[in-house]
Amino acid sequence: MRLRVVGCTGSMSGPAAAASCYLVQGRGWDPACGAVRTWNVVMDMGPGSFGQLWNHLDPRDLDAVVFSHGHADHIGDVISLHVHRRWGPARGSDPLVMAGPEGLLDRVRQIDGAGEEETYEGEFSVHTLRAGVALRVGPLTLTPSAAWHSVPGFGIRVEGPSEQDPERGVSLFYTGDTDECETITAGASDVDLLLSEAGFTGSEGVRGIHMTGGRAGRTATEARVGRLVLTHIQPWTDPEDVLAEARATWSGPLGVASAGAQYVI
Ligand SMILES: [Zn+2]
Ligand SMILES: [Zn+2]
Repeated sequence: MRLRVVGCTGSMSGPAAAASCYLVQGRGWDPACGAVRTWNVVMDMGPGSFGQLWNHLDPRDLDAVVFSHGHADHIGDVISLHVHRRWGPARGSDPLVMAGPEGLLDRVRQIDGAGEEETYEGEFSVHTLRAGVALRVGPLTLTPSAAWHSVPGFGIRVEGPSEQDPERGVSLFYTGDTDECETITAGASDVDLLLSEAGFTGSEGVRGIHMTGGRAGRTATEARVGRLVLTHIQPWTDPEDVLAEARATWSGPLGVASAGAQYVI
């Protein structure tokens, strides 16, 4: 399984990267073509990310797009994906699985300003995520855990085959947007890689919206993960500040997501 960072700037696009967007790839059997192939799942598609996604794959090769929650910095560029499938090169393709919290399609159509005739039904097959209910996409299993954020949302655990040894299962957890909470820590338990948002720094005391570096580090420690990668850092925040906070609560491997980075799991 591979994790590719398509966009990672917190709360908006930034000078160094598009907003949140992560490509997860795993190799597995496809009964439709009778062969092993790479399966492609995108988690979130914030502003600027659809164009950057082309640097990693042909968007016609997506197998599913999964949204952690309905904030515009996580779903905004699904509008571009829709144009690509409605009018562009992916026109006529089978509907693409689009998964997210209840009401996702309404949110997407609001952002689009879609007329009544624009139902999105020909381009997408909508799947509503429920906490603890797994979604299977080829060799990848995605299991949502309830987040603690200002709107309903999920962290997402992804399990799939190891890149080096496909017989062995590996895992990652993407927090989406959330503050530190039991459901997220439980969802991330024992994963090989925790991709945790750190939208706030310790000086920002508001609870119930974002992690700080310290809270992300504590989540990694309590969930006993293999590696912590911080993301969703706002463009005005110095990543070194967030890293320093995380080092105080987490002693394992630690890094900051950057556009184009790839993690082989
Ligand atoms: Zn966000
Ligand atoms: Zn949010």
